[in-house]
Amino acid sequence: MAVLLTGGAGYIGSHTAVELLSAGYQVVLADNFCNSSPQVPRRIEQLTGKPAPIYQLDVRDADALEQVFKENQVDAVIHFAGLKAVGESVERPLLYYRNNLDATLTLLEVMAKYSCHRLIFSSSATVYGDPERVPVNEDMPVGGCSNPYGRTKLMIEQILLDAAAADPGLSVVLLRYFNPVGAHPSGLLGEKPNGIPNNLMPYITQVAAGIRDHLNVFGNDYPTPDGTGVRDYIHVCDLAEGHLRALEYAETHRGAEAFNLGTGVGYSVLDVVHAFERANGLTIPLVFAPRRAGDLPAYWADAEKAARLLNWRTRRSLEQMCADSWRWQRNCD
Ligand code: NAD
Ligand code: UDP
Repeated sequence: MAVLLTGGAGYIGSHTAVELLSAGYQVVLADNFCNSSPQVPRRIEQLTGKPAPIYQLDVRDADALEQVFKENQVDAVIHFAGLKAVGESVERPLLYYRNNLDATLTLLEVMAKYSCHRLIFSSSATVYGDPERVPVNEDMPVGGCSNPYGRTKLMIEQILLDAAAADPGLSVVLLRYFNPVGAHPSGLLGEKPNGIPNNLMPYITQVAAGIRDHLNVFGNDYPTPDGTGVRDYIHVCDLAEGHLRALEYAETHRGAEAFNLGTGVGYSVLDVVHAFERANGLTIPLVFAPRRAGDLPAYWADAEKAARLLNWRTRRSLEQMCADSWRWQRNCD
């Protein structure tokens, strides 16, 4: 029995592969490497001492995907494959709809053909749009996403809810990630953004490495304790463990269920900068800049449902997230 990880060579998929292999699962990876490196499967094998077979394919290619199901007894799928850059999705919406929606539809059809009934989907906290209050829980309405990327997540969630409603044998878990950061503590796996990073943590590590000369802090007049934006940063290894718990949950539950994967704690931009400085003994030069368009002031998870039903809680501190991010930055070139 194997678990197929679409997008398994990517940032979150690769860390999840390590978790699954370490827990004794067999994994098969499928990725077209449009946003990852062909070296990643070797690194996963190096870290776990176990095989991580990789199929280089586009998930939208049904014939290629079928080959994976023919050659492996795929018992469950974790569907990471997708494009995820918010800004690019605004500039190239059709690319995002075509890639993210088609990949999911093709996957569902092939899974049905091969009687595979368990699917874990990488959703995002972005599906809550601009929520009426924080922390955000799973009973709050979804919708109002401000960009095509977010709307692909919302649409895919709806497709999966419909598929589960129509097929009582299907088990779907929607995992709504908050802000994944950090890297594997070995320094062998992490996220390598293309070009100028949009996200806070990779920007900070590039400032620390001297690639950028200072951090622009977008807004210091938000109604938050120090005026800077608050988010729920989650270590990617904690996030990976959440997928393991979700797989176990999907074994014994039918239907579709959504879970927030976050720590339940919000940190401001300045909290993150100061934690990074403490964890790594460095100083991060910063400049206060205007608010970034579309940013919410404060956003963090109510993580109680995942604790109760998945028996999952995060374990790693903000300092660990910062230390592991910095180790990866120094190793990744
Ligand atoms: P990533 O880009 O590192 O990984 C995605 C992988 O999918 C890449 O390796 C890419 O090459 C592959 N891929 C994309 N389209 C494909 C296709 N059609 N066929 C085959 N492979 C394809 O991204 P990540 O950060 O690991 O994110 C994984 C998933 O989690 C994505 O669906 C993303 O939208 C979602 N997510 C990520 C975050 C985040 O902040 N990283 C937050 C919320 C949700
Ligand atoms: N941020 C910042 N400078 C940067 C990048 C991000 O001040 O160069 C802030 C951003 O305004 C937000 C927080 O850091 O308050 C997290 O931003 P990120 O893009 O990582 O996550 P998202 O906004 O998508 O939750």
